[in-house]
Amino acid sequence: MQRVLVSACLVGHAVRYNGLDKKANHDVLSRWMADGRVVAVCPEVAGGLAVPRPPAEIEHGAGGAAVLAGGARVIAKTGVDVTAEFVHGAEHTLARALEYGIRVAVLKEGSPSCGSSYSYDGSFSGARVAVPGVTTALLREHGVQVFSEADWDAADAALRALDTTSA
Ligand code: SF4
Repeated sequence: MQRVLVSACLVGHAVRYNGLDKKANHDVLSRWMADGRVVAVCPEVAGGLAVPRPPAEIEHGAGGAAVLAGGARVIAKTGVDVTAEFVHGAEHTLARALEYGIRVAVLKEGSPSCGSSYSYDGSFSGARVAVPGVTTALLREHGVQVFSEADWDAADAALRALDTTSA
């Protein structure tokens, strides 16, 4: 049985920057939890950041891949550079994925760590850019399929395909 990585806030852990969770109520997640498939990780907490913490964005809307390549920073709204914590959290999350042989993840959309189809542009104005966060970029570089909480069914189909392949 394939394990699946899920953002800790989607599972119900109160780890978001504002001290809250973003618990998802979806049949697919409930079934995965009952099956014992879910590996829950919060990259930002794993990287050493506190709960709550100031919101952070990737500067210039450069996206997670640019951060990993050393070409962009992650800056908290207070002006503090939190790039090292974000990269460390992404590396921790990748290590957990490799440890469990994980090939599929469902991560919280829009986050500078977990966003998959968009993140924010670094201006703290709410403007989106179609680039993923730091953890998503690193996972994808290592072949993990990353979905958002808008795509539970697609993630489940990907997982079932892997179960069939490895059966
Ligand atoms: Fe959720 Fe990811 Fe943000 Fe942690 S880093 S609170 S798991 S979106």
